[in-house]
Amino acid sequence: MPWRKRWIDPREFEGREEDLGDVLAKRAYEVWVSEVMLQQTRVSTVIPYFNKWISTWPTVQDLADANHDDVLSVWKGLGYYSRATRLHDGAKAMIANKSTGSSCLIPSSATDLQQFPGIGRYTAGAISSIAFGEAEPVLDGNVARVLSRQLGLYMDAKEKRASDILWEQADQLIKRVSTYADTSTSAVPGQWNQALMELGSTICTPRPRCEECPIQDTCRVYSEGQALSDKRESTTVIDIEDACSLCGPVDTEDVAIAPEEDSREETSRATKKRKTGAKQANTISHYFAVGTPKSNAETEEDEDSGDYPPSDEHRKRKTPTSAANSKSIAAYCSLFPKKSAKKKVAEEECFPQCTLSGSQTTPRDRKASAQGFISRLDIGNVQMSKAHYVASFPPLVHVFTHLKLTMHAYRYKITADKAEDVDLVCNGPLARRWTDTESMDGATLSTGMRKCWELIANTL
Ligand code: SF4
Repeated sequence: MPWRKRWIDPREFEGREEDLGDVLAKRAYEVWVSEVMLQQTRVSTVIPYFNKWISTWPTVQDLADANHDDVLSVWKGLGYYSRATRLHDGAKAMIANKSTGSSCLIPSSATDLQQFPGIGRYTAGAISSIAFGEAEPVLDGNVARVLSRQLGLYMDAKEKRASDILWEQADQLIKRVSTYADTSTSAVPGQWNQALMELGSTICTPRPRCEECPIQDTCRVYSEGQALSDKRESTTVIDIEDACSLCGPVDTEDVAIAPEEDSREETSRATKKRKTGAKQANTISHYFAVGTPKSNAETEEDEDSGDYPPSDEHRKRKTPTSAANSKSIAAYCSLFPKKSAKKKVAEEECFPQCTLSGSQTTPRDRKASAQGFISRLDIGNVQMSKAHYVASFPPLVHVFTHLKLTMHAYRYKITADKAEDVDLVCNGPLARRWTDTESMDGATLSTGMRKCWELIANTL
């Protein structure tokens, strides 16, 4: 990943504050751009965009000076264009508010960073820790999943209460781990945050690969899953599940009845056996009753002794687990964090750039509405009311995270007697312009609009 770089140690720049400021600002800018691009986008998709962006605007000053159409054009294809706009706005605000007392254009503190457009708590934490080495936490979906599992927190991580707890825990962890460096800023915070993010995106995924996990020993949920799959008999059932005011009840029935694709038969036999005792044994209280697994108890002792990083001997202490048990433990872990209740996604119908009202539900209504929409457009001295309907197209459905959009595209033909009658700039509150067919290939369009255009272009 081109944005992963060695931490810049200010001690290497003694007496060269200006140089240090430039180098840090560039590094912080790269982290900022990469974090914004990586929101809801895969690493492999981001890499070429990141490289092009940085070669076009190597510094925050260059981005602030850029033309906004060029910014959108370089972003073209990456989706969620508002991210590009916010990055551009943030860069302009940073240059406009440049602090005279600092040699670095980008502030190092997470609190100061959040004053700029488009920089939220997560992005601020990432810039502050990775570029400047400050002990600031990050919490994205990947980190929230790892922490929920490590802590055994069965809450919906998107809810405010859960998110507050996880931010607080992430903060305590990074403050604690950062004390192992002898300077107030160091490479440790950035490495720690990136390690958590990486673990969440590669191993502690929604379906985790716990057997490869380097922090399995301290994982609360793994221990619970282990206790459940060991099927050890409880002698004294201390039901403290109800005592927790944070976690919801965990329904482990799904773990018992969902066989893995590749071992359906073997699992279904084990499942039948397990289902009999599931009601009695598959509870977290059972975990408490059977006691904390040995590896965990030892880990806690090590933590108290301040032995960091863990020794090789410590790492070797994993108890071998059978393949069947591994699957059932991973299945239990995958229940965490608690899944959000699915909200019904809003639905909307539109022509490109024009939302239809709920009453325009029939093809006839929509066609009449399209005719009205066209006649209100403006193209100089040409009378748009005389625009000639040519064709309509099958609806295109585009699903966003918050919205299911059904787009209706129509083709109209307008005739102008003289070229001078045509004005390519479309007046009105929305910024629109007429363009020719050839220019459409290079135009910056959202994915939905691009699909609409392709539909029409195929008929030309
Ligand atoms: S042991 Fe499994 S659930 Fe726990 S942190 Fe590691 S991968 Fe995630």
